[in-house]
Amino acid sequence: MAATGVLAEILDGDVYKYYADGEWKKSTSGKSVAIINPTTRKPQYKVQACSQEEVNKVMDSAKAAQKSWAKTPLWKRAELLHKAAAILKEHKAAIAECLVKEIAKPAKDAVTEVVRSGDLVSYCAEEGVRILGEGKFLVSDSFPGNERTKYCLTSKIPLGVILAIPPFNYPVNLAVSKIAPALIAGNSIVLKPPTQGAVAALHMVYCFHLAGFPKGLISCVTGKGSEIGDFLTMHPGVNCISFTGGDTGIAISKKAGMIPLQMELGGKDACIVLEDADLDLVAANIIKGGFSYSGQRCTAVKVVLVIESVADTLVEKVKAKVAKLSVGPPEDDCDITPVVSESSANFIEGLVNDAKQKGATFCQEYKREGNLIWPLLLDNVRPDMRIAWEEPFGPVLPVIRINSVEEGIHHCNASNFGLQGCVFTKDINKAMMISDAMESGTVQINSAPARGPDHFPFQVKPTKSIQLVRLIDIMVDG
Ligand code: NAP
Repeated sequence: MAATGVLAEILDGDVYKYYADGEWKKSTSGKSVAIINPTTRKPQYKVQACSQEEVNKVMDSAKAAQKSWAKTPLWKRAELLHKAAAILKEHKAAIAECLVKEIAKPAKDAVTEVVRSGDLVSYCAEEGVRILGEGKFLVSDSFPGNERTKYCLTSKIPLGVILAIPPFNYPVNLAVSKIAPALIAGNSIVLKPPTQGAVAALHMVYCFHLAGFPKGLISCVTGKGSEIGDFLTMHPGVNCISFTGGDTGIAISKKAGMIPLQMELGGKDACIVLEDADLDLVAANIIKGGFSYSGQRCTAVKVVLVIESVADTLVEKVKAKVAKLSVGPPEDDCDITPVVSESSANFIEGLVNDAKQKGATFCQEYKREGNLIWPLLLDNVRPDMRIAWEEPFGPVLPVIRINSVEEGIHHCNASNFGLQGCVFTKDINKAMMISDAMESGTVQINSAPARGPDHFPFQVKPTKSIQLVRLIDIMVDG
């Protein structure tokens, strides 16, 4: 994709074009937004700062395109999605390179994100044909007092224009997880990518462009969320908003009108560790769960709640593994890479300083160079510390020592967040009971929280899934 021909089509000088009406366009605003490379802290790319007038036009063409798309047979919609998925996977290297430069994602993980996204697009096409190909049939005499005189047929219909807003940490995967289900269901899409990650998203959209979707069905408008966000989310042409990100989602929910909202927001995913847990397994999962992509994952382990009697041993095991994490640039595929922005690094530092002032035990020395923060485990964290409740979205992990399982559950449930959590124990009965008591959308048993595989439910309270990871091991052991 980095081929000159492609870039000539989607670049205007050194500014990436936005995508509307099946064409790559330069904004008439004459303004651009710089994307800062988190590693070098220098401008890496520029994207168009789209105007309100351009958003209006995009909404009009999205509405028109959706009408005829809804009449396009399901199998044809699926065919185009499969094509886009294949093109996306073909261009994985070029898109991954953008992810490395825009959001400092380690090189291998960046490739994985693109491949996984292609698989998800195909999966949605496949499932969509089945789910949308079915309807419901009711007869009236199944309700008291009725004769068999009425029939009711129901089927799923599209919503219309879907506004998709993904976050910086998975700008490709969390964009396609909105785009593919929307398209297969007969909707059109207006994508507002995160600023950091916008160029990877534009390359991804280019793959959909190559697949040959009708004009106007997919658009990608760029610009800072703080500048065009409100105009987009309050636009009367939008029939549904699918948003993933932080507290911005709360503000959007308050402003959006009477339209369906799909909100995937932050997490303070708790990891509860019982005295009978396999502590080597726990330590390995805390490292994977807490420090992958430098902790910038909604499903990262964000607080460890460990029973006091095994806390010393667990902390020692985690410390030993933290020492082995490589720290450096994403191009070298380091475990810990710079966090996405200077403001993010400053926020994390604020949480660390607060914990220091209030007496947390530092298992490593706090070290920061620019946006690069070395992995840090904070032991003996207490509930009066900010880090006990706030989401650092960085490589800093608090450990709270608890005296009972109830104390752990209480802390988990007192959180404002309710995304994921995990519990480690060899006792499957306890594991199930604790999972049930944790007010989190998904609880993993004996494994770190995670979204994948991507077809598993990924939900927030009040719905719930309990993922029995390593259940077989438990049954063999027990
Ligand atoms: P964010 O600051 O909330 O931004 C998310 C998206 O909203 C970006 O595309 C951003 O664009 C846009 N935006 C900003 N202001 C807006 C406005 N006024 N109107 C409309 N859109 C606006 O979140 P982030 O820092 O990118 O991502 C990290 C957060 O996402 C964490 O809290 C993490 O836990 C959460 N997350 C949740 C899930 C999940 O599935 N639950 C998955 C991944 C991440 P700009 O970049 O241009 O500002």
